Formats: sequence, structure tokens, C-alpha cells
Amino acid sequence: MSRKIDTRPPFESLNGKSPSQLFGKLKTPCYIIDESALIRNCEILASVMKNTGCKILLAQKAFSNFEFYPLISEYLSGTEASGLFEARLGKEEMPKGEVHVFCAAYRDDEFDELLSYADHIVFNSIRQLEKFGVKAKSSGKSIGLRINPECSTQEGHEIYDPCASGSRLGTTREEWDKNITSELLQLLDGLHFHTLCEQNSDALETTLQAAEDKFGDIMPKMKWLNIGGGHHITRRDYDIAKLEKCILYAENKWGVQVYIEPGEAVALNAGYLATRVLDIIRNNGVKIAVLDSSAACHMPDVIEMPYMPPLYNAEHEKPDAYVYRLAGPTCLSGDIIGDYSFDEPLSENELLLFGDMAIYTTCKNNTFNGMPLPDIYKLSLNGELIKLTDFGYKDFKNRLG
Ligand SMILES: *Cc1c(COP(=O)(O)O)cnc(C)c1O
Repeated sequence: MSRKIDTRPPFESLNGKSPSQLFGKLKTPCYIIDESALIRNCEILASVMKNTGCKILLAQKAFSNFEFYPLISEYLSGTEASGLFEARLGKEEMPKGEVHVFCAAYRDDEFDELLSYADHIVFNSIRQLEKFGVKAKSSGKSIGLRINPECSTQEGHEIYDPCASGSRLGTTREEWDKNITSELLQLLDGLHFHTLCEQNSDALETTLQAAEDKFGDIMPKMKWLNIGGGHHITRRDYDIAKLEKCILYAENKWGVQVYIEPGEAVALNAGYLATRVLDIIRNNGVKIAVLDSSAACHMPDVIEMPYMPPLYNAEHEKPDAYVYRLAGPTCLSGDIIGDYSFDEPLSENELLLFGDMAIYTTCKNNTFNGMPLPDIYKLSLNGELIKLTDFGYKDFKNRLG
């Protein structure tokens, strides 16, 4: 069975309006979060929840623009946090939702505060479970252990592969067998794995099989199984039927409540970065457009991942086009977004619009070189533009002294 998935490409929700019509008056650079695209994503995720009985959490490390949490909480079951402040944000801003937290290692001096926010605590190692598990359990928390199914399904992305050799993320079966005791097993309510990154459900199917091979005997003793993030559920070519099959398999076989905690999929293609051309430079036949936004500061994953974001009215490679290397204004030589092809030559001050800029941007940017952070706007369902926040010199200086 294959279902037709109606997800939007990066600029579809502009409804045919040009960036300058929509955003021409805004000071650049700025991010614009698109409410209608977020709703579309949430509707897709909510239908997976409805069809399978699974619960879906927002992984806040990808998207934590909390003005949208009331909206998201109409669809999803809660938030997932990677640390203390995210847990607090989830508790404060999505109070009706569940608050799950996973951290590679918890701190003694933060743990009590963490317990005041989170209701599900996932430990990375059996030693951490031993150290904090009784306290968490006696505070009424649901306790999980992150397992490492030792099954790599991605190539060429070692920094995003928790199953890479020597990874610190998750307990291997060997470590489990060496260290688990019946007292510690008693504490556990669930298992958690997170091994995917921007992947389709065939990779989940492979991983779930590996998890069963390694930990299948433990699963029936658990109340829940969290299958992590990295599921690109709202991408156009994602096979949702296969995802639902995997979820139902786990639920039926082991009697567990399944959780998924996507970050990207919640806000995929739900934001833009508006930027202007400051200068055009030529070097040995290469035309370089220097923008008022920076890959290093404002879209760090362009360099870290690396990837080339979609750009309105431009393509990555096109014959007979005007090709420009788009680059940031910082001193970093590698502050380059990529080579884009245009039908017309670029000009100074021209407005450009990057797509898919809601995720791993507003919550991951920085002020390297004393660059201001871009303001953040909401493009609301009725077409209204609302400024959510702006930034100034103080935001830069306060972090330094
Ligand atoms: C990063 C992460 C997520 C979210 O991943 P996406 O790729 O944004 O879907 C979920 N859970 C854990 C434990 C993570 O580390």
C-alpha cells in the first residue's frame, strides 16, 4: 500500500507571490517562519499518530521557536530535550505535553532541577542509570535507557552516525550484558534508540530489525520504545506506510507504546532566510556575491553537514545560466553557501530567499565576527508578517562579560 504524500517543496507556501512582494520591506537578514507549512507538517505527523497510536514529540534542538508551541501542541504529544534549558523550555511553553529528556551524561548539580521539568528521563549508560535511576524513579519519572543497535544505515556522515565505531551514544548489548542487574532492570520503563539522520523508513526498518536482534528479549519487559529522530517523515518521497508498519510491528510484538521524536520533520521547509546582495566580486572567472547573511553564523549546518539550501528562483546546476558563488560577509574563507545558477545576472541590493531555514538555524546561530543575529518573523496563516524577536549589540556583548 502506498499513500500519496502531499508535502510542499520549499517555496510552495508562498502561493506564487515573489519574495520581494512578501518580504521586500523587511530589514535583512531575517528568518521568516511559515505557519501554514508548519501546520501542514503537523497534520502529516498527527495522521501517523492517529493511524498507529504512537506518540510524536518535537525534538527541540532542531526547532525551538516557542511562539509556535501552542500550535504544535494541538497536534503532537510533547517535547524532547537534549539538556536542562530545552527541558525547561518544553515544560514552560508546552505545559500540556510530555517532557522527555535524553543527555549523554547528566550532572549532579542539575539533576534535581531537571526532575522538576521532565517526566521521561533517558539514560545513556548503565552507570548513569545506576547513579540517577533510583532518584528519578522515586520522583515518579518514567525511566529509559538509550541502546545502541550497532547498525549504521548512513554513509559519509560519520558525525551524524550514533552507530559509528567507538560512538559514545547508547548502550551496546555487550555493555548491557556486563553491567545490567535485576535491580537496574526493575527501574527501566522503556528503551530508546536514535540512529537516523534525514532518512527514509527503509532505514528505520533495518534499524528496528537490528534492535530486535540485539534487545528483542528485553522489549516485552518494557512499557515504551522511543525510536528517536532523523525520520524525514514530511519529505515528499518519505514512505509513511512503511513507517506505520514498523510502529505497528513494535506495538503488536512487544506491547510497547511507541514514541518518535523528530526535529527536522516538524519544521521541514517551514522557514526562510531573507538576505540581500552587498557586493559582487570577480576572481579568475568566478563571480562571488557577498551577502548580508553568513553560512558560518546564520546557517551553520551548511558548513557542518554540509549541504546547499534551496534558493528561490535559482538552481544548483543549470547550463547557460549566470552562476554565482554565494558567500557570507565574515572573515572565514570557507563562509560559502554554494554555487547557484540564475536566469538573470544578480545586482547589488537584490533580495534573495533561502528555503528550509526553520531547522537548525534560529536555535543554532551565533555572532561570530560580531555579526548581528537575524530578526525572526512569523508569516501567519492569514498572510500577516509578525516580528517575533529582534537582536542587537547587547545580545552579542552580554555573552562575553
Ligand atoms: C537530534 C536528535 C533528534 C532529532 O533529530 P532530527 O534529525 O532533527 O529529526 C531526536 N532525538 C535525539 C536523541 C536526537 O539526538
